[in-house]
Amino acid sequence: MSGERPVADPRALKDNAKLVLADPVLRRNFRGAMDFLTERRAAQFPDDEGFARLRDLGRHIRQHALARLPQLLVQLEQRLTEQGMHVHWAADAAAANAIFLDLARRHDATTMVKGKSMVSEEIGLNHEMAAHGVACIETDMGEYILQLDGDRPSHIIMPAIHKTKEDVAKIFAAHIPGAGYTEDVEELIAIGRRALRGEFRRARIGVSGVNFLVAETGSLVLVENEGNGRLSTTVPDVHIAITGIEKVVEKLDHIAPLFTLLTRSATGQAVTTYLNVIGGPRRDDEKDGPREVHLILLDNGRTQAYREERFRETLQCIRCGACMNHCPVYARIGGLAYGTTYPGPIGAIISPHLADLDSTRDLPTASSLCGACGEVCPVGIPIPELLMRLREAGRHTHPATPRQPLLKGQGAARSVTEVFAWKAWRLIYAHSALYAIFARIAPRLRALAGLVRSGWTDTRTPLRPARRALRETLAARSRNAARRPHPPA
Ligand code: SF4
Repeated sequence: MSGERPVADPRALKDNAKLVLADPVLRRNFRGAMDFLTERRAAQFPDDEGFARLRDLGRHIRQHALARLPQLLVQLEQRLTEQGMHVHWAADAAAANAIFLDLARRHDATTMVKGKSMVSEEIGLNHEMAAHGVACIETDMGEYILQLDGDRPSHIIMPAIHKTKEDVAKIFAAHIPGAGYTEDVEELIAIGRRALRGEFRRARIGVSGVNFLVAETGSLVLVENEGNGRLSTTVPDVHIAITGIEKVVEKLDHIAPLFTLLTRSATGQAVTTYLNVIGGPRRDDEKDGPREVHLILLDNGRTQAYREERFRETLQCIRCGACMNHCPVYARIGGLAYGTTYPGPIGAIISPHLADLDSTRDLPTASSLCGACGEVCPVGIPIPELLMRLREAGRHTHPATPRQPLLKGQGAARSVTEVFAWKAWRLIYAHSALYAIFARIAPRLRALAGLVRSGWTDTRTPLRPARRALRETLAARSRNAARRPHPPA
């Protein structure tokens, strides 16, 4: 994008949105990309009943796993350890980064290559490692473009969706030694790949995210299209995978339905180019693969979402991004405006748990509640209801109970004016005499509509002129009808 960029702070949502809305190129990019993705997804689910059946299965698998989450995590750790992998638990971003740094130091690593991982974005891995002299190189093409440009992802599946090929051409020409300016997409991809090949060879550590963890078999499942995930997890001597604790499922059989829901919903593909199932480090009789595999299981607020039954469904998410692609707000303001790692509807429901409801209080309001996100969610997360619950939690503080502990920052959006207005409303409705007086006075208060300036009156037609406009339209219609010649009898 040209000029000022949206800031990475959800408190700046409104200012960020204004910035994006004022940029026609960015709006066109987002609109075009969302139309493309929604059409591709629709082509993969032509039959509503078939989709509903598959979605019920996906929801059931995720809910079944969440219902047994503590046991499954214990089983997973046991299986992974038996297979020679190392399991680390990280309560928050700082703890996860400390594990990365410790492993980098133990292996004398100054470079890591990284496949696409939103959880690594969540913990700010690249910045933290850079601050300690370890370069963390993105190898997903979209993420690599953003890293070169010092930009942030705007979509969880297609991080550089806001960049045009002209933007990429300029970025490569400016940052990759020997790369000339070209707008040919194939040539741009070839330039990026050539630059990254050397990094794979040099790096001692490869980093990846994980799409699913299988407790039964102790497997890490990675879904990808570019092959960089496979290179990051096999070429360097050490592989460090990081993911949220909620990604575990019980059985290997549960992967197939989730995989098909994920790829069809995310990119409109029946299958992706690669499905990597990692079962441990290189064995003695194997020619390649890492000598060490580590898995970092990150909490970072997920336990809080898990403890609160009314928010637990948030953790069913398989990060397909379909809710974002179908959200009319996201399609206009794009991912950067949200100022969070996860934008759009999924970001609005997960971010209050990862950060707090105080700093993210505006996110649940960035929705028209049209219901599209909930309809397309492949694991049936009732996103609009969760948004409503978060809006309510932002405005009210109920006494905490074991089943409903307080969300961090709960009640932060409470407004004294609003509380007063609702109390007055309740009082009036509870007393018939007061109600009768109010009913007589209220219509006269409309005269104030033109005097009160607010976000609402700035963008909507006040009631009185609207009525007048309607009257004028009807009068004009009847005048025209009177002038129209009557057909012969
Ligand atoms: S909330 Fe549903 S639609 Fe959105 S990313 Fe998660 S799984 Fe996909």
